[in-house]
Amino acid sequence: MNLRSECYSSCYLAGGTHLIPHWRTVERPPELVINLKRVAPWNTDDLVNTSWLTPLATISDLQKHMFSHPGFSGLSTAAREFGAPLIEPLATVTGNLAAARSNCALAAPLITLAAKVHYVSIVGSGHVSVDDLFEKPGCTTLPHGALITAIEIPTPPPNSHGAHLSLRGGTTSSPLIVAASTLVELNDDGTVRGGRLSITNAASTPREVIAAQEILRAHTRLDDIVGDLGQAAADAADPDDDRWGSAKYRKRMTRVVTERLIKSIASIPTTEVATQ
Ligand SMILES: Cc1cc2nc3c(=O)[nH]c(=O)nc-3n(C[C@H](O)[C@H](O)[C@H](O)COP(=O)(O)OP(=O)(O)OC[C@H]3O[C@@H](n4cnc5c(N)ncnc54)[C@H](O)[C@@H]3O)c2cc1C
Repeated sequence: MNLRSECYSSCYLAGGTHLIPHWRTVERPPELVINLKRVAPWNTDDLVNTSWLTPLATISDLQKHMFSHPGFSGLSTAAREFGAPLIEPLATVTGNLAAARSNCALAAPLITLAAKVHYVSIVGSGHVSVDDLFEKPGCTTLPHGALITAIEIPTPPPNSHGAHLSLRGGTTSSPLIVAASTLVELNDDGTVRGGRLSITNAASTPREVIAAQEILRAHTRLDDIVGDLGQAAADAADPDDDRWGSAKYRKRMTRVVTERLIKSIASIPTTEVATQ
């Protein structure tokens, strides 16, 4: 951390799968690269447990980890469908968040799980929830030079179920068009009592659909609020045109993906959810 603050043109390197391709496109790579794999206490076998991810936990580590609570289903799906098998053993979850890309695959499920990023910096240490982590593309809200030391993932509430759905431009490894994640909390009779919804690649950075929190407190059946949640997600989306799709198309797909996502949970038999 001191090295990072002493040399302005420096950066942390975890898996390097974002940074190394990026350096090839810029005129001047950083003068100093701080390889986090040399940080001894983080090089353990216990990189993932149900509440904490260490900074060196990779997408492959997450894929192998058996989360038993159905609330983690969205996170497990997003890790499984990351879509780049060659880099998954190198790419870290922390690097995925810290790069603050609009298409950051793991941010949406981590937002719905109320995950927190713990950091240290020369101005002090602290934590920030993942939904407050992104300032703008490529930039987090953490203090300059902050080093992320852990990602905390609270255990989801009882009778909750998570899900994640992404739409890609072709095959499973094609570029992401848009993705949505949710965590819904259900009553024993299958009606909904709370939850969260978030979207990825539908705006400059991943974000929570704040209006969904109120809709999900409706104590009604999920089937009855599919359209409301789809509309709330489309309203929260603020995409740009890019070569994979126009802004208008992305906004429309945000609604479609969200509605399919909610229907996928609505179709789970009540008994299966209520016994968790
Ligand atoms: C072929 C290919 C396919 C890809 N597919 C996807 C995809 O489908 N979805 C997706 O979201 N991304 C994808 N990526 C982007 C990238 O691989 C991922 O975002 C990956 O998780 C980044 O992790 P990393 O460990 O390689 O990060 P690095 O490249 O090492 O670092 C990324 C950023 O995080 C910072 N950082 C890393 N660790 C810390 C820390 N502990 N504290 C503070 N800052 C830190 C670095 O300084 C840097 O700014 C792809 C990349 C490639 C090359």
